[in-house]
Amino acid sequence: MASLVVQKYGGTSVGSIDHIKRVAERIAETRRSGKDVVAVVSAMAGQTDQLLKMAWEISDAPTQRELDLLLSSGERISSALLTIALNAIGCQAVSLTGRQIGLQTDNKHTRARIKQIDGERCKRYLEKNHVVVVAGFQGVNEHGDVTTLGRGGSDTSAVALAVALNAEQCEILTDVDGVFTADPRVVPDARKLEIISYDEMLEMSGLGAKVLQLRCVEFAKKYQMPLIVRSSYNNHPGTLISEEDPNMEQPVVSGIMYDKNQAKITVKGVPDQPGIAAKLFNALAEASVSVDMIIQNISEEGHTDISFTVTTEHLADAMTEVNKVNEEINAETISADASISKISIVGAGMRSHSGVAALMFQTLSRENINILMISTSEIKVSCIIDEKHTEQATSTLHEAFDMKTDPVQIPQ
Ligand code: ASP
Ligand code: MG
Repeated sequence: MASLVVQKYGGTSVGSIDHIKRVAERIAETRRSGKDVVAVVSAMAGQTDQLLKMAWEISDAPTQRELDLLLSSGERISSALLTIALNAIGCQAVSLTGRQIGLQTDNKHTRARIKQIDGERCKRYLEKNHVVVVAGFQGVNEHGDVTTLGRGGSDTSAVALAVALNAEQCEILTDVDGVFTADPRVVPDARKLEIISYDEMLEMSGLGAKVLQLRCVEFAKKYQMPLIVRSSYNNHPGTLISEEDPNMEQPVVSGIMYDKNQAKITVKGVPDQPGIAAKLFNALAEASVSVDMIIQNISEEGHTDISFTVTTEHLADAMTEVNKVNEEINAETISADASISKISIVGAGMRSHSGVAALMFQTLSRENINILMISTSEIKVSCIIDEKHTEQATSTLHEAFDMKTDPVQIPQ
């Protein structure tokens, strides 16, 4: 069999009839270069949101099973249209839904996880020289009901299919040229990264990078599937996401991320005794509020303060829980602040360099930007700052770590 590439086209790339025709041309060109192609598509831009909106206009709590059936229709439309476009230009193609490619998931409607894919039907069509166009984002559960994989889930469909079909690589075609050192809207001289490791991309997706669904990167890492993020509008090579090359010098910092979607809750003057934090964070966990950073002050006269961050969507729920728990823990005050943001630097080179966090703190302090909270991992440093400094912090850090050119050398 010829070498196989799985290409995933995002919502904007198939956002109109003209766009769909252009994608068909691009696929036909790849075919002419001698490769087999499986194309996985998202719904046309905005369609998933529109479908959701209709459901919410009818009910505050639409049944999850029906939501999945509804949402999966977006990808059916785009896959059928793209296949019609391919056939119209003489490139033999066939469209398949999640069920037809045998994508089995668990039962968690609207955020299902893939259990297995039976790629047999895809393989049969590939052997008959067809391009296979797959409706992304969807599968079926053990009852045969349609499920969807969570927002952005077509990325994960594409990687899982690439693994099942033993593809040489999985390309994610989108409306940007690849993964950048920082948001180009904030840092005009942000650079496109040529290569980045799975671990770095995992951190970035976890920090809110929208280019790839987090689960898609987890999948690619698990099965060592090379991922390429590139533009569907040009032929630039894009960013390769793969295993770290131990022989290569890693940049100290590969990317700077910011997330304004953060809020901080401070619980002041709680008794400094065992069990308080457990009560607080248990209640939050039970309400499915995920907590990111936590700090607890040194206790004074038997009392202490606890601050933690949640995403802004979870703020209201978190406050409800904290107020409930407060009947037991008797804090002096509880306050919330949604005008904060998280700024993070990510880089595999941090493993072997010291002084990275220090340079970050110095840079922020030189700009008079106060750091409210800090957290670190092996390859990441995040700081919570006042939201109004987000852009300034991003561009000065980009400058300080000299990211528009080569990796900065930090004096040891
Ligand atoms: N259409 C779905 C969404 O908007 C899935 C995807 O685009 O990957 O989330
Ligand atoms: Mg997406």
